[in-house]
Amino acid sequence: MRKKIVAANWKMNGRLDLVFKLLEPLVSQPIDGVEIVIFPPSTYLLPAASALTGSRVQLGAQNLSDQLDGAFTGEISAEMVLDCGASHVLVGHSERRQWYGETDETVARKFERAVQAGLTPVLCIGETQAQHQAGETERVITRQLQPVFDLLGRTALEHAIVAYEPVWAIGTGLTATPEQAQSVHAFIRRFVAKHDESRAKLLPVLYGGSVKADNAASLFAQPDVDGGLVGGASLDSDGFKAICQAAI
Ligand code: PEP
Repeated sequence: MRKKIVAANWKMNGRLDLVFKLLEPLVSQPIDGVEIVIFPPSTYLLPAASALTGSRVQLGAQNLSDQLDGAFTGEISAEMVLDCGASHVLVGHSERRQWYGETDETVARKFERAVQAGLTPVLCIGETQAQHQAGETERVITRQLQPVFDLLGRTALEHAIVAYEPVWAIGTGLTATPEQAQSVHAFIRRFVAKHDESRAKLLPVLYGGSVKADNAASLFAQPDVDGGLVGGASLDSDGFKAICQAAI
């Protein structure tokens, strides 16, 4: 039985006061029955970790370096992320692929670093609008997942989470229908099963792309949708709480 996970990707939003404003209700009114992971900007990981002391809410970074350490100005290593109290890290978010030139191979190397350090990588995959319209979704998903298996082998996803985030649905207000999401999630699970059948059954596959309080329940009710990765709607306490409750 897979448990539901709701993750909040704050992206590059807010200042320190927002960190406390958004985390306080999660600490003072804990939500049981769903695993919650918050991805604040990296500079706020330490204050976020301290605000979450005693809470079951987990923390993650939005990015990490594919290098171990050394002369890589501006980069943050997996071990540094761990030192800040994070347990998770986003890898391959479409905004990193689109604006920072991350290739499937770079993403696979970052994924490997996360696993080596003991972080749980959340591997973000998904097709663009043009690829969606051209019926290339499954081809794109395959191309994005395969390098991780090439680098880490059959059990690559043993300690990972996958987030299916159709690029055309991120921050656009367009959401995949529950049926569309289910069909791609089932494809992801079938693809993973070709490498590692037992992990495929247990692998959390989250949906991301304009998840809101009013569409979360129908998406999360799909058999292969194990929760959500929430961007914009995670910046509103009440809305995010309602999304978490929709996962229970
Ligand atoms: C995201 O950036 O991961 C995301 C899903 O954003 P939004 O919910 O705003 O579409």
